[in-house]
Amino acid sequence: MTARMIDGRAIAAALRAELADRVAAAPVRPCLAIVVPTPDEGTAWYVRQLSRTADRLGIECRVVGPPVGADELVARLAELSADDTVHGVLCQTPMPAGITAVQAGSAIDVAKDVDGANPRSAGLLAAGATAYPPATAAAVLHLLRAEGVELAGRDAVVVGRSTVVGKPAATLLLAEQATVTVCHSRTRDLAEHTRRADVLVAAVGRAGLLGAEHVAPGAVVIDVGTNPTADGGLVGDVRTDEVAEVAAAITPVPGGVGPVTTATLLSHVVRAATPS
Ligand code: NAP
Repeated sequence: MTARMIDGRAIAAALRAELADRVAAAPVRPCLAIVVPTPDEGTAWYVRQLSRTADRLGIECRVVGPPVGADELVARLAELSADDTVHGVLCQTPMPAGITAVQAGSAIDVAKDVDGANPRSAGLLAAGATAYPPATAAAVLHLLRAEGVELAGRDAVVVGRSTVVGKPAATLLLAEQATVTVCHSRTRDLAEHTRRADVLVAAVGRAGLLGAEHVAPGAVVIDVGTNPTADGGLVGDVRTDEVAEVAAAITPVPGGVGPVTTATLLSHVVRAATPS
């Protein structure tokens, strides 16, 4: 079997086209404020990409810098949360000394917490209430929906339990009535669990951790991992070529989850600006 390659770029483009229409019809111009608390090359690149995409869709993007300390960071996030002209607030990592991502996220109003950084957002989601999940976790679900993957009653296995990807992805899969297993670094016999998956989500950050021996025939595999290679490229957590011989469908890296994450984050901003 050769798996279908899930085209994240095309799925992201369709979502962006829908967003551009919604922005054009919106009574206000959606605005995302991004706070960049520490200088970091990777973060700067991501923020430039996000700003460019936002701009093309008619979404205002305010990048708030320069680098700030812990107290000033909390004050900025609270200020932006209280600003009526701002609809979404995003705080980039790495954090400055003296503050954790959870502490910073707690300063973002839940209604504007478009990347699910406030632990209250996670709690609301777990309780089945409305809140924004982290964009990457939401992108995993968007990809599965776009591919028409049935989730109710199916076995979903998530490898990774971070608060930004693994745990919220598991929460969202559970809300879709999947039977969810979460694996992590202390899991014994990883393959025994992952081979039961109809839907396998890899969110670890270890190049090529999962191979054909971890995947059931016919599974759908979503590879969230982004691991830089020595030649400046990017690979996922899944050995794509060999897993493609077993799985029914798989996301490539790059071109899978990444582009959908950006579009999903902006969809949260548009939703925050135009609550129904
Ligand atoms: P993280 O915070 O480092 O979490 C990694 C998780 O993987 C942890 O739960 C860890 O377990 C688990 N793990 C580590 N080694 C393992 C092993 N050998 N077997 C099973 N589980 C293992 O990473 P993250 O922030 O969730 O990110 C995960 C990956 O997704 C990274 O490559 C990151 O770059 C990528 N990512 C991509 C996007 C995107 O838009 N495409 C967005 C965000 C992140 P413990 O909890 O036990 O330590």
